[in-house]
Amino acid sequence: MEIKKVVVIGSGTMGSGIAAQVCNANIPVILLDLTTEISQQAKDKIYKSKPPLLIDKSKIDNIAVGNIKDNLNILKEADWIVEAVVERIDIKHQIYEKIFSYRKAGAIVSSNTSSIPIKILSEKLNQEQKKDFCITHFFNPVRYMGLLEIVKNENNDLNKINSLKKFCEQELGKGAIVCNDTPGFLGNRIGVYAMQVAMDEAFKMKLSIEEADAVFGRPMGIPKTGVFGLYDLIGIDLMSDVLKSFIKELPSHDPFQEVAIENPLITNLIASGYTGRKGKGGFYRINKENNQKILEAINLETGEYFPSKKINLGIETTDLLSLINRKDKYGEYAWAVISKIIKYASSLVPGITDKFNDIDEAMRLGFNWSMGPFEMLKSIGVKNFFERVDGFEKNIFLEKLSKNKNEDFYVSRQIYTDIETLGKIKPKALKLDKNNSAEIYRFKDFNIVEFTTKACALDYDSMDALKNATDKPLIIMNESMQFSAGVNLSYTMNFADKGDFKSIEKFVKYFQDTCKHLKYSKYPVVSAPSGLTLGGGFEVLVQSNFVASHTNIVIGLVETIVGLVPAGGGCKEMLWRWSQTDEAKKDPDFAPLKVFDIIGYAKTATSPVEAEPLKYLLPNDKKIMNRNSLLEVSKKIIADNLNFKIPEECKFNLAGKPLKEKMIKILEKLYNEKVIMDHGMVVGTELANVLSGGDTQLDKSLSEDDLFKLELDSFMRLIESKNTQNRIKHTLKTGKPLIN
Ligand code: NAD
Repeated sequence: MEIKKVVVIGSGTMGSGIAAQVCNANIPVILLDLTTEISQQAKDKIYKSKPPLLIDKSKIDNIAVGNIKDNLNILKEADWIVEAVVERIDIKHQIYEKIFSYRKAGAIVSSNTSSIPIKILSEKLNQEQKKDFCITHFFNPVRYMGLLEIVKNENNDLNKINSLKKFCEQELGKGAIVCNDTPGFLGNRIGVYAMQVAMDEAFKMKLSIEEADAVFGRPMGIPKTGVFGLYDLIGIDLMSDVLKSFIKELPSHDPFQEVAIENPLITNLIASGYTGRKGKGGFYRINKENNQKILEAINLETGEYFPSKKINLGIETTDLLSLINRKDKYGEYAWAVISKIIKYASSLVPGITDKFNDIDEAMRLGFNWSMGPFEMLKSIGVKNFFERVDGFEKNIFLEKLSKNKNEDFYVSRQIYTDIETLGKIKPKALKLDKNNSAEIYRFKDFNIVEFTTKACALDYDSMDALKNATDKPLIIMNESMQFSAGVNLSYTMNFADKGDFKSIEKFVKYFQDTCKHLKYSKYPVVSAPSGLTLGGGFEVLVQSNFVASHTNIVIGLVETIVGLVPAGGGCKEMLWRWSQTDEAKKDPDFAPLKVFDIIGYAKTATSPVEAEPLKYLLPNDKKIMNRNSLLEVSKKIIADNLNFKIPEECKFNLAGKPLKEKMIKILEKLYNEKVIMDHGMVVGTELANVLSGGDTQLDKSLSEDDLFKLELDSFMRLIESKNTQNRIKHTLKTGKPLIN
């Protein structure tokens, strides 16, 4: 079955997202709604969306619009029809009647429902129609959420389900997991249960919401929004509806029922408009007093708000065993929550799926957990778990495991896909080295460096790992969300606070040496980015020999925002790339002025298509829809380059002082227009100094080392200035830029 044309019915949040992703795959899609005006408005919204749903805005006309009264004939052409209208069974049934009287024989029809079982959705279909009907449950925002649950039942043609899965994997780039027709499917059943347990235990143990969120967050490998923060984000009213649906759909003896009962505090919050971030606030709220915004947290017992307190658990990494063994209320809470999640998830095998591993994947892809319940169990240790856990009657999975105590029960990640992923091959690799910031894996004929810090921020250890891994072809990639958010600013500020600028200089120098080493090492180096690839992360990429990039990236040199200039070779490489253009051959100032504009404004691109015009990526770099495929593509690059030749060193001819003056004129204009302020002028002047080549002239050739030196000198002058330090501190504290 080939899918060459898709129709999406319902152009709301999900329909738009699905249509945009089909458009991203370069496949024509028609978006239908009650009226063409509604679907046209949806198309306009897709075009303007932020973060963008489209990888390449110029492809918007892959999406055509229409309505379900006049354009039903279009259904005859579709190979796949996705229904994404409101969650109302009467409306969905009416739509299916239309779809099935128009669709071509054999075309797949799916619903994006989040809660209605196939059994009910398809109750009015005949047997032949049921064969082609399933649920494709995408997550919001569709472009960025990796998970797609394909829900089937006994009536489905499994070959068709498998080819749909393949299409969604290869073309739409999704982690497509097939599961059975049970309430909430995989992700939401476990994810919502986990939230409810985390909330219920917090109430029972009289923890503050900040305490619960501090534990049910990073220390457990769960996003830092925690449980109460996530409730506010999703909407407390929406969560209440979701729970009602679970209560209705699940049998009365299901342990979910105990934790799904709405408590009076939540009823009151909803009634008084405290529905979360979209309302007046929720468990947290922002209170404005004397022109100051204060974050407040609710007291679960009294319902009153107090200024939110930061909880420091003193935990740097996710270590579940240490967490549950803590002899304090946090350890007790963590165990109560984790053990219940493990018990519940395992009790659902084989009912919701016979592959327990798929549940973990659903949690990782759909809820951004770093490990799912079964990996949590593995990480605690089977023996340790059974020493502490109480009753688990009728839980086939745990009963079996309690007998064989097999510590290696997990085997590997991502068995839902045939693709050879990093998660799958890591357990088979030789762990060559590990430090606080990275790990080096050795395979037969290549190495992998994986960064392991928060947001994969870079420091001395990250560089050390890279430098030590070039004795074989090297792939730099991570299983976690980001390639790298850049140099670890807290690490840098720790030195600055002590006035230890020598250590900062040593680090930057080492960063430069490492990047140079990557570029000119004997074997090819491939960077395989996904997610944030900023600042220092981009500098690692740009000095790799090859790139295999996921289509979901945020890439660029953003140093000027924190009052710095790129100093790991970013200025140098961008200059080189732009100096290879025809315009640069005619005008020696073209490249430096272009790079001055790009780095000065800290421009970023949100996809490879946007990155190319800025030359953050090059036409030859590989662009990949499915994140899972990054490893296979990188390996192929290595295999195709067995005769790899070390690149030649670059030379730069820059105009020096007159060029710097041109750049300063640009800065003065921006200063007079109040686009930049005093320190912006200082940072811009340092950037101008680097990009004009410093004390040089056009007929003098500068080496890469000369450029590195200019970058380093400017960087050091800036990091020593109080205004840059203030910018960094402000960004670290608020996540926002300081304009000074
Ligand atoms: P939405 O309210 O944003 O959009 C629904 C769209 O359906 C609207 O544009 C509406 O005009 C249209 N519509 C209503 N009746 C119609 C009809 N008879 N014919 C054609 N179009 C009609 O809803 P949504 O959030 O996009 O949800 C759509 C589906 O996806 C629901 O089944 C929902 O449960 C499910 N879902 C939602 C999310 C989410 O996060 N929003 C996530 C997963 C699944």
